Amino acid sequence: MSDLRELYQEIILDHNRSPRNFGVLDDSNRTAKGHNPLCGDVVTIYLLLKDGMVEKLHFEGKGCAISIASASIMTELIVGKTVAEANALFQSFHNFVAGDDAVELHEDLEELRVLAGVRAFPMRVKCATLAWHSMVAALNDESKTVVTE
Ligand code: ZN
Repeated sequence: MSDLRELYQEIILDHNRSPRNFGVLDDSNRTAKGHNPLCGDVVTIYLLLKDGMVEKLHFEGKGCAISIASASIMTELIVGKTVAEANALFQSFHNFVAGDDAVELHEDLEELRVLAGVRAFPMRVKCATLAWHSMVAALNDESKTVVTE
């Protein structure tokens, strides 16, 4: 178990050091911002939606390792998904981190299992889901800033 925790920790730190798809996306047609005042995490999502599919997904921001790693992994998992699929994956991830052990993670989200440790810490759940809430806001064209409580 501790080996697994160390592996999870290493993956999170790797994404934090080298976030994937980081930076402004010049041809994005949807954006949304997220702010988690409890931790100080901020994120901006840039999304290119084409024919009902997420063609590109970038993010910018700063915050704790959990928030950056979650956003980084998310950009890799959501590209190529339809709006309905992306919404469903958000729901699955949200239930997974906010829920109990009985909740199973969607098979497409296996990489996010590294964030399972946040489930014991409600404040950390907000860090892990910030980018996801913002991605869904961008996807559904709600031009606003998402603020977690
Ligand atoms: Zn945080």
